[in-house]
Amino acid sequence: MKALMLTEPMKTEVQDVPKPVPGPGEVLIKVKSGGICGSDMHTYRGHHPYRKPPVILGHEVSGEVIAHGPGVTSPAIGARVVVEPHIVCGTCEWCRQGLVNLCVNKRVPGVGWQGTFAEYLTAPASVCHLLADHVGWAEGSTIEPLAVSQRVYSRGQAKPGEHIAVLGQGSIGILVTLLAAHGKAGRLFVTDVMPYNLEAAKRLGATDAVDPRNAELPAGEFDVVYVCTDGPEVMEQAVRLCKKRARIVVVSLFSRPQSVDFNNLVTREITMTGSQTYTREDFVAAANLVNSGELDMSQIITARIKLADLPGMLADIDQRKVVGIKTVIDFD
Ligand SMILES: [Zn+2]
Ligand SMILES: [Zn+2]
Repeated sequence: MKALMLTEPMKTEVQDVPKPVPGPGEVLIKVKSGGICGSDMHTYRGHHPYRKPPVILGHEVSGEVIAHGPGVTSPAIGARVVVEPHIVCGTCEWCRQGLVNLCVNKRVPGVGWQGTFAEYLTAPASVCHLLADHVGWAEGSTIEPLAVSQRVYSRGQAKPGEHIAVLGQGSIGILVTLLAAHGKAGRLFVTDVMPYNLEAAKRLGATDAVDPRNAELPAGEFDVVYVCTDGPEVMEQAVRLCKKRARIVVVSLFSRPQSVDFNNLVTREITMTGSQTYTREDFVAAANLVNSGELDMSQIITARIKLADLPGMLADIDQRKVVGIKTVIDFD
């Protein structure tokens, strides 16, 4: 089968590799669609902490179940599925609490499991979620990043009518904006440095969209602030935006130290928390939002390519030549 191999940092090629065979408890999936994610780009540049070349990239995937390994009866042959791309131990301290995102023995595509930019993939039947018939393959593959954003959004415990700020409108931040609009935010204030991203956020429901480099940020107005960029001074901005008792949720990883005036957190009783991938509950919530038709993910898909075009596309994304939200690969 064909697969997109990262052979060394910044170098990818479509290679012929052996087609995987489903083991006990696994299904074989004919991959239909895959999304490109920021973490694929980290791996591409050789910066990812544990995904190292040679490795097949990709973890956002939808496809059709075409064979069962021993002991599997569902999902049925022919089922349309999206894969929740982590294999967890089920027995560690965190798994026992349902916090599988924090599992200490986790395997993910590219680490102990094949990456998903390939024509076929094996996956435990237990991590396959059904796609409704009306959901396109490409929309199905966006459920994974939506699940990341669903966890971020839910960690803020936003209630309808509360004022929300989302700092950074990359692919995770913009989906937090979409979820906040769907959750009936009051004021929905977003920042980004790219005009395209600000316009896209407005289309998805942001009430204010500004470039933080040339706008004064409102102080003390927001109930929940989501930090989805590692931009300079972003943590100072987050604290500044907060009302008393506000919640700050951080999903971005930082390439430089950030300073925060902790006195501000103390005296205004602000809560700050991180957010790491998703639990089963978050993934199911994301799948339900798409399967029910409540969220139309076609509005975030801004480019569709073929597997053969992927090496060029990754190079273009790396060179910041691609403007858009989500690029997906069509495998048919
Ligand atoms: Zn992703
Ligand atoms: Zn575990």
